[in-house]
Amino acid sequence: MTEQLDVLVVGAGYSGCYQLYRLRQKGFNVKLYDAGAELGGIWYWNCYPGARVDSDVPNYEFSMEEVWEDWTWSERFPGWKELRAYFRHVDQKLGLSKDVRFNTRVSAAKFDEKNHLWHVTCEDGHEVTTRFVAACLGFASKAYVPDIKGLSTFEGECHHTARWPQDGLNFDGKRVGVVGTGASGVQVVQEARRSASRLAVFQRTPNIALPMQQKYFDEQEYSEWKKDFPEIFRKRDASGGGLYDVNPEKRAAKEVPENERVLRFEQAWLKGGFQFWSGTYSDILSDVESNRLAYDFWRDKTHLRIHDPELAEKLAPSEPLHPFGAKRPSLEQDYFEAFNQPNVELIDIRQTPIAEINAKGVGAGDRQIDLDIIVLATGFDASTGGIMQIDLQGVDGARIADEWRGGVRSWLGIGIPKFPNLLMLYGPQSPTAFWNGPTSAEVQGDWVIELLEWLRDSGRTRIEASHEAAESWNAHMNELAASTLLPEADSWYMGANIPGKPRQLLGHSGVQSYMKHCNACANNGYEGFKFE
Ligand code: FAD
Repeated sequence: MTEQLDVLVVGAGYSGCYQLYRLRQKGFNVKLYDAGAELGGIWYWNCYPGARVDSDVPNYEFSMEEVWEDWTWSERFPGWKELRAYFRHVDQKLGLSKDVRFNTRVSAAKFDEKNHLWHVTCEDGHEVTTRFVAACLGFASKAYVPDIKGLSTFEGECHHTARWPQDGLNFDGKRVGVVGTGASGVQVVQEARRSASRLAVFQRTPNIALPMQQKYFDEQEYSEWKKDFPEIFRKRDASGGGLYDVNPEKRAAKEVPENERVLRFEQAWLKGGFQFWSGTYSDILSDVESNRLAYDFWRDKTHLRIHDPELAEKLAPSEPLHPFGAKRPSLEQDYFEAFNQPNVELIDIRQTPIAEINAKGVGAGDRQIDLDIIVLATGFDASTGGIMQIDLQGVDGARIADEWRGGVRSWLGIGIPKFPNLLMLYGPQSPTAFWNGPTSAEVQGDWVIELLEWLRDSGRTRIEASHEAAESWNAHMNELAASTLLPEADSWYMGANIPGKPRQLLGHSGVQSYMKHCNACANNGYEGFKFE
């Protein structure tokens, strides 16, 4: 007999763990499946040297008192090992794993129109039937490996950062090449610079990386801070990006007197984290002039840290290649100083493209760069890749890969026309990458849980987003994109890092306005959805 569930949660990151915990509390028959071997979501897969979160704690943790009351972080921006330990603590407190099937990748699901059920198949042949699917796949479930000639012929170790060997890989004395300078690339460079005999960094686009301002906590100090946590979590939920202390001024940066503006920039710089990105003035991501002021401030600060002026120009060009913050800024601790070291070399692949990877290393221009390890810090088929690699078959045989070939269509980034009873969390066309992960897991998560309760309590067994609602949401997303500078960068926010992927804004950049739309939908009887 195939097991039949009320809800199958797929994905054991913050979103999935929260769904499992709350839905179980509310009496749903719910199970969670994850392709990984432990809880933690992306922190299970991204165990590369230097992997670290860019949202600080207590922003980046659950707000349930039963979880935080006896947990103490050692660092303001914890690394992957501590994050994994945190998820073990979460498990111990909430007793999640007894309802989790690990090492289970959902490969296909077919909607049974007669019975309003999903028949789900996993890679290992396991099958399950469920009324609803909560897809908590995150935005980084599908690693992107570019099609570089000869990649498979390399005789050394070659790994994507998100498929890093679980038992680690040592850089000591090795010749290491890092392809890509996004967030993961920056983090690997900071580690590899210390012990690699040679570090070749292949850069296409300079990373407008911001100072992390890491801090180490004293246990006593952290414990005392906890009395403020309920208020901190309340503010976090009400904030623009899910971070309680990142709150930009309403004024336009360009209209603020220079000395005042520079002071605010300096303060944000010293506070670190995402303060300089989204905590100064609210028009930084929408006004060209204000944006340029932030860029110039960053560039001048960064140039001071790089000894060679030519190199400084490559890492922090006088003229920006794209607006500041239109690609996700990474946080760094000593990234730029790495390039002052004799063992570190920057290879600008705009000037010297990678021609091939061969048995011994990388051929770039007329050079052969011999390597022992190649790190592919080449990012993700973000946001849509995870769900589109599942063979989802909805109404009348509709396949998600066909439906979204021309671009994502969803209602509120939660429901998809033709795919009834499937609800996405932290998915495309919701705030995702513009929302602190745990905040989204709880706030959007509660909205979905209330919807599921409402369906159950009203005896409804089928919910589907309407085409009209999805089209109106898509129009809204396009308008939103046009009101920002985000479309001006070839970023994964826009799907532009993947050849052939439709260019569209994949994340809703206004968290509070997004929640207003969700709440209006709920208050109007879940307008935009159809029910049976
Ligand atoms: P995830 O944590 O991504 O978990 C998704 C889970 O789904 C994974 O465990 C995966 O195995 C599973 N899964 C996917 N497909 C299947 C399938 N077919 N079958 C079974 N299981 C499947 N966010 C921030 O807010 N701040 C940060 O600083 C930050 N840093 C990040 C750094 C990195 C390197 C990455 C990759 C992401 C970062 N993020 C950050 C985003 C991060 O995804 C969220 O913080 C958070 O992890 C989202 O939780 P989630 O539960 O939605 O998804």
